[in-house]
Amino acid sequence: MMELPGGPYRRQVVDVLRDLVRFDTTNPPGNETACARYLADLLTPAGIEARVIESAPGRGNLVARLRGTGEGKPIMLMGHLDVVAANPEEWLYPPFAAELRDGYVWGRGATDMKQMIAACAVLMLALAKARLPLKRDVLFVATADEEHGGRMGMGWLARTMPEILEAECAINEGGGGALHVGGRQFYTCQTAEKGICRALVTARAEGRHASQPRRDIATLKLARALCRLGDGYLTPNAIATMRAALRTIASVQSSYAAQRVDAILDQGRVDEALIVAGLDSEGVRRMRPLFYDTAAVTALNAGNPESINVIPASALAYIDGRLLPGQTRQGYLDLLRSHLGNDVEVELFRDQYSPGLESSFDHPVFHVISEVVAERCDGAALIPWECAGSTDAKHLIPRGLPVFGFIPSRPLPPGMSEAGAHANNERIWTENVPFALEMLYDIVARFCTRG
Ligand SMILES: [Zn+2]
Repeated sequence: MMELPGGPYRRQVVDVLRDLVRFDTTNPPGNETACARYLADLLTPAGIEARVIESAPGRGNLVARLRGTGEGKPIMLMGHLDVVAANPEEWLYPPFAAELRDGYVWGRGATDMKQMIAACAVLMLALAKARLPLKRDVLFVATADEEHGGRMGMGWLARTMPEILEAECAINEGGGGALHVGGRQFYTCQTAEKGICRALVTARAEGRHASQPRRDIATLKLARALCRLGDGYLTPNAIATMRAALRTIASVQSSYAAQRVDAILDQGRVDEALIVAGLDSEGVRRMRPLFYDTAAVTALNAGNPESINVIPASALAYIDGRLLPGQTRQGYLDLLRSHLGNDVEVELFRDQYSPGLESSFDHPVFHVISEVVAERCDGAALIPWECAGSTDAKHLIPRGLPVFGFIPSRPLPPGMSEAGAHANNERIWTENVPFALEMLYDIVARFCTRG
């Protein structure tokens, strides 16, 4: 194990998190520069190169680097400084006060993701102090604008100065939580995220007087087409990440169970595979979307109640689609058409498409994370994981940089409950802040001192 060097780091990381929460980086407008500058001022005195680069006035990004010998390419620690809005009236404590109460740090960003930013900053300080023989640079990039797509943050850096993001791999938000199945504990490491494809569905027919109903009017054509979507789970597909996750979970029972899971997945029977792997009904419900391209009908538009005696000539439906890695825009729209039938037109809605992404988990850093999890978390196993949402990884994976989502987080003691990303009363169990620091320190120190 690589232990933190002597110093008040476990306490400091909580203080840094609280300082970070007190910067109101609600996006929009973001105003991340002051927060980025705070981090630069924290790191610079320790001999860490740190600079704040603005994509626009107020939209600051921190790029910090602790130099190694350069034998290997850098490891990147990445995170976002911005947070989503919080309405103080709906909170127990003010969302930007960083109150320390009842064993939690309360505040917007406490779990998404200023705890990771604090852990990375203090990790850099501890690494600088330890003077380990680092064979690669440790790069810490804390960016603006992730909550709005990252075009002023990671996306902007990747576009305008890709050379400073040159790295072997990156550690990001997304995974790191614990999962209990069949009496065994697993930690997730995000290696995949779903994409988005939004569609407009239009049914057309002649408009007419409401006293002359017919089967082929636009509203009914649309309704019949939408019913063919069923529950919105389209074609099943087990991507490498989720297949490996399920195999690992099942292998706790027996290697036979793992083989059975594989065979059942090959036949597209996702629910059955989840049950054989040992998941309960709640687990099945939560994991199902990770095995399907999905379609949710989120808006409808046809006719006008003020003209209730008129059959309209068109009826529209709006579909929010979530794609597995590997699915394409064209492939998804064709899939929708095959479900909806020929009575309606299907087109991409306002260019809203971003592909799903997957990094190979057969990567040295994934193996290092597995080791650290096994040693520090009572033999728990690491499983690759897919996230239904989207992160700044989308700006890096297509450029060939593997991204692993891992913010280490232990299960809470009985009676405690965190409120996570974007929730009111967002809070983190205080103990999980130094836990993340120690885990990440160990991971980075091992990865950077090995050949
Ligand atoms: Zn986040």
